[in-house]
Amino acid sequence: TRAPGPSVVEAKLAGSRVLSPTRTLPGGVSVKAQTSAGILSKTTTTIAQKRVAHTPTMKRPVIPTEFGAKVPTNVRQRYLNNFIDECMKFCPSEDLAFQMALEEEKVVYDRSSSKNIYLNVAVNTLKKLRSKKSNQPACLLSGSPAVVGNRKAQSHEEVLGGRLAAKTSFTINRTGKQQEEKLSGVRLYRKLRDYLMTEEQLQEHGYPRPHPERSGRAVVHNVPEKKNVDPFAKVCCRCGAEYKINANGNCVRKEECNHHWGRLRRHKVSGGWETNYSCCSGTVGSPGCSVSKQHVQDGRKESLDGYVQTFEKQLPPDGNGGVYALDCEMCYTKQGLELTRVTVINSELKVIYDTFVKPESKVVDYNTRFSGVTEEDLENATITLRDVQAVILNMFSTESILIGHSLESDLFALKVIHSTVVDTAIVFPHRLGLPYKRALRNLMADHLKRIIQDSVEGHDSSEDACACMELMIWKIREDAKVKR
Ligand SMILES: [Zn+2]
Ligand SMILES: [Zn+2]
Repeated sequence: TRAPGPSVVEAKLAGSRVLSPTRTLPGGVSVKAQTSAGILSKTTTTIAQKRVAHTPTMKRPVIPTEFGAKVPTNVRQRYLNNFIDECMKFCPSEDLAFQMALEEEKVVYDRSSSKNIYLNVAVNTLKKLRSKKSNQPACLLSGSPAVVGNRKAQSHEEVLGGRLAAKTSFTINRTGKQQEEKLSGVRLYRKLRDYLMTEEQLQEHGYPRPHPERSGRAVVHNVPEKKNVDPFAKVCCRCGAEYKINANGNCVRKEECNHHWGRLRRHKVSGGWETNYSCCSGTVGSPGCSVSKQHVQDGRKESLDGYVQTFEKQLPPDGNGGVYALDCEMCYTKQGLELTRVTVINSELKVIYDTFVKPESKVVDYNTRFSGVTEEDLENATITLRDVQAVILNMFSTESILIGHSLESDLFALKVIHSTVVDTAIVFPHRLGLPYKRALRNLMADHLKRIIQDSVEGHDSSEDACACMELMIWKIREDAKVKR
């Protein structure tokens, strides 16, 4: 999975906001967001209905004056006004247009290190806004300046050619091909060792660690201790409601789970910061925009038995312990989150293991929106978690480097303890620090100028694993340039 952990993941990048539902749930569980046109158009409709057009009487937002700013306030204000004018042409309401324009301006400002660059980027953004047709479906806002309404029609090239292109154009020479030695085999393995997590980091970031006395058991550091230990009282990890289960693990009362499926993110508005949900732009504490059959729990940290730990094995003569990236999908069962799919790729980006996994307990929510795994996929699955563990132990040794984005989440799902880890959520930290984490797709868009996790038809589980591998290869090259 991606971006798990108690993280509030930003939705910073323009391109990503255009296309991404997010994947950290309010409960801190983050799972895959599978974009789907259905979901998005539904959201669009909802918003369009909620907003009633009114006469243009609202005061326009003002860019606050910042002393010694890289771009003069009056320049920023001028472009903001231009953006507003354009947004008004296709947004169903004035305040949506304001919000969208503010977001657009913020993206331009954040991306630009100087006034000249700002002007370049701003002009491109203006062009892009002008090219929007007024008959487009409402500009879907949700804090995202997203033109999600027409997302199907919007190609990656358009996205990249818009806001991102502005940035790309002046970095392209710097990242041009210059003596790119192939990073593979033992060379890659050795380079990657510079990015391995330390034991302290593994503990700090809540990775499963071996129990000092009991083999087969994991311990987790850095988790708040639970005071009330009524085993039948649970807190829903999606909506935060308290609910009771009986001895069989079933909910005592039939109660729908009303929640936000998006993640919380902060964004700047005129005069400060605002936090809201990416799914519907609802504020914290607002009624959920999505209804599921019942409440669910994470539960993974409550059952720390059944763990296996990778073995020491003889390294091959060249000392290459192997480099792999890994990604897991989960669904909600009576126990909590359980593994439904695991994908492993090697350093050549080839899938070397990919299987659906039959959960131990009864499934209560397939979580398909995020995982892409459907009831049908699991219908004939016979592989169990135990089978997967056996394969993993065979495939990896203690010295194998496993790469993942918030890999702790995957290791909890697999019930595997492994210490030779590169975590892209840590290698590429969020500018605000923890608990904020950058979303994988934003990292890909920022650094590799690629849009991932954008499939409408179905989710490709290897995509995330490949993204992590590619990001690390990119990172090694970038860091080498600095050293040179
Ligand atoms: Zn919502
Ligand atoms: Zn709930």
